Amino acid sequence: MPRKRLDNKGVSLILQEVALLLELKGENPFKVKAYSNAARSIEILEEDLEKIIREGRLREIKGVGEALALHITELVKTGKLGLYEELKSSVPPGHLEMLKIPGLGPKKIKALDDALDIKTVGELEYACLENRLIELQGFGLKTQEKILQGIQQIKKYQGRYLYGEVIQTAQDILKRALAHSNVLRASLAGSIRRRMEIVRNINLVVSSPKPHDFLTAFSKFPEVEVVQFKDKASGRYSLVSGVEVELRITPDQVFPYHLLQLTGSLSHWNAICERARSMGYRLTEEGLRRDGRIISSKEEAGIFDVLGLEFIPPELREEQGEIEAAEVHQLPILIEDRDIKGVFHVHSFYSDGTSSIRAMAQAAKEMGFSYMGLSDHSETARYAGGLTPEKLEKQWKEVDQLNEEMDGFHIFKGIESDILPNGSLDYGEAILKQFDFVIASVHSHFNMPLEEMTQRVIKALRNPYTTILGHPTGRLLLAREPYAVDMIRLIDEASRSGVSIELNAHPFRLDIDWRLCKYAKERGIKIIINPDAHEEEGLKDTYFGVGIARKGWLEPGDVLNTMDLEEMKEFLKKRRGRS
Ligand SMILES: [Zn+2]
Ligand SMILES: [Zn+2]
Repeated sequence: MPRKRLDNKGVSLILQEVALLLELKGENPFKVKAYSNAARSIEILEEDLEKIIREGRLREIKGVGEALALHITELVKTGKLGLYEELKSSVPPGHLEMLKIPGLGPKKIKALDDALDIKTVGELEYACLENRLIELQGFGLKTQEKILQGIQQIKKYQGRYLYGEVIQTAQDILKRALAHSNVLRASLAGSIRRRMEIVRNINLVVSSPKPHDFLTAFSKFPEVEVVQFKDKASGRYSLVSGVEVELRITPDQVFPYHLLQLTGSLSHWNAICERARSMGYRLTEEGLRRDGRIISSKEEAGIFDVLGLEFIPPELREEQGEIEAAEVHQLPILIEDRDIKGVFHVHSFYSDGTSSIRAMAQAAKEMGFSYMGLSDHSETARYAGGLTPEKLEKQWKEVDQLNEEMDGFHIFKGIESDILPNGSLDYGEAILKQFDFVIASVHSHFNMPLEEMTQRVIKALRNPYTTILGHPTGRLLLAREPYAVDMIRLIDEASRSGVSIELNAHPFRLDIDWRLCKYAKERGIKIIINPDAHEEEGLKDTYFGVGIARKGWLEPGDVLNTMDLEEMKEFLKKRRGRS
């Protein structure tokens, strides 16, 4: 099995975990510190560890002594660390899980174990419900409530994954399947094919004349860790990454039927079956029949066709009116990756990004974009290195120079301005009017009541300098719930004020939710698909946003950054002229 090479980041993460594990075991604090310090030095290291090892300069790194040098070498060379594996097996798995509970660090977990013999999250929950943490030293009622809330969150999110976390693995497995000699065709199915923002597993449908051979081969794929279940034509597997794969193998003539059924959604599939019934057919995953006679289709499109429907792209199969639209040839012509002409919401190391403006611009240009909207954080966002007026001046000079230098590419000067608790934007008019665009985002005071929060954002939308509303609900998928805000009223107000709403394409956000895109589109709003990139690699997140825009029925004309450079310049000039 080819071992994944560990880069600096990977090494740093494992050392950080070693530190956590040592702390969970109650080891000497100096030893713990040594590992976490080394992890931090490596994290910010600019050179490749492999090269440093080759040149024998490992000990020159701050905080790397003899023992650590050996561990790091082991990690880089083998991708594994004996000490780490040992520690992992000597710490109760429940303690590791508890680290995910907000407010619970290694010290507290150790204390809970010492005092109450708590080894699992379940035991901890029970102890909280029995109020056993109230009197415990270092805890108390408030902490107990917080822990209980944290446990509920974890339970809710368990067994669910971000699309962005699993899609690469899913595509790797698909490719491997397609390359197998006994496989005629294969496709992802289920929620991952529908590009849902959160998925529970990876569905794979394979057409093969020798199911048994392929099932056996699949068990040996390097991604597969455990075979959970296997029969003649299907299997369930746990991958090394923890995700499960549901594999279905079908004879080739029924492949499209299985694919249609397994892609779902369930309600879409049921509605399609119902439609077939009303037309005198019987549709199952084993085929389409009329009066006992099989009507065969080689592809999914053929099945839709027999049922009098346009082909419905998988992203739309959510029972949101797609069948009715397909019947009258009114399905949207969905936006595609290549329609995106430039990206907004890009950070640089002027605030909390890790790359230079030049590097970000060059990366964007290499991706085929013709413009980039630079928007570092505004002054109030001190936690993210928000820009003072002096820093802004400096940044603008740099942008002007780059714009002169770069051919066929333009950087727009913008800012991601905090929406202050009272709904104002950062900076005074003198500065605001100098930006090409302003993204207004909420970054603090998330806990306002619904009405107050809605008013706060509405005020920002009415600000003549606001061009774009950033990540409108502030949600972090599987980690933080959206703040309370009335999205319908925000969309209505954005429509009145001509403000564009962001579809933040970061796989953790994907915010605005696709379920609201259709409504926004009907209100004439331009959605803008923004990567919220903090490094070059982050620019690629744009395409996660395109997937979600497709789920939201958006066509190229509904998305602001499908404009070419000249159109965009014109558009922003007009917007500014209004203020
Ligand atoms: Zn933001
Ligand atoms: Zn941002």
